[in-house]
Amino acid sequence: MPSTNPPAHSESARRCYYTWDIHYDCNYRCSYCYFHDTWDAQQKLNRYPGIEHWKAVWDGVFARYGEGHLHVSGGEPFTYPGIIDLIEALLPKFTMEFDTNLSFDAAGFMRRIPPGRVKFCATYHPEFVERGAFLRKVRALWLARYDIGVSCVAFPEHYEELRKLHADTKALRLPLTIMPFRGTHQGKTYPAAYTEDESRMLCSLDAQNAPRSMAFYGKKS
Ligand code: SF4
Repeated sequence: MPSTNPPAHSESARRCYYTWDIHYDCNYRCSYCYFHDTWDAQQKLNRYPGIEHWKAVWDGVFARYGEGHLHVSGGEPFTYPGIIDLIEALLPKFTMEFDTNLSFDAAGFMRRIPPGRVKFCATYHPEFVERGAFLRKVRALWLARYDIGVSCVAFPEHYEELRKLHADTKALRLPLTIMPFRGTHQGKTYPAAYTEDESRMLCSLDAQNAPRSMAFYGKKS
């Protein structure tokens, strides 16, 4: 395994960095999702004006500000209708980054979109995919030279899976980001409810990001 793939975004991101919640919908329904109790309300916010509309919008942004980096999130971006066509159209003008559960057809993606200008923030969701299957997709993208990192939500019921994911990503020499759970579980509100031991454990699995995100959401390690 290569120790690193070329970053997909360095120069463009330095110029203009955009974050786009492309829609609030997802093919998973994780119990710990930030949107878990509000999907119906969130979906009412969605707009699907067609790919040509979005091409024109981003062409306008490009005409005004030049090249940039487009961070696409949601929901799950890859369930947006026509997303691959849209990526193909936007990539010459923007490098792109996706927060994704990686459930899409990765082989089909690789056939159409080359590495170099695309980055994946792939999140493992144990309630909907087996860890080995998820990591096989991650590895395939990594070996094909796509810029990719792995993340997981620190849901209290998933600590054992988190430890295994940490070991797996370490063996693959891939970065792992642990995101604090934001929500209520067994009557406790997280991340404030993480115990000191839990906080230390999570920060030991992701020394780079977890302490900062815990502090940001009000739970010091
Ligand atoms: S994959 Fe992400 S957006 Fe979809 S339900 Fe799970 S946490 Fe929510």
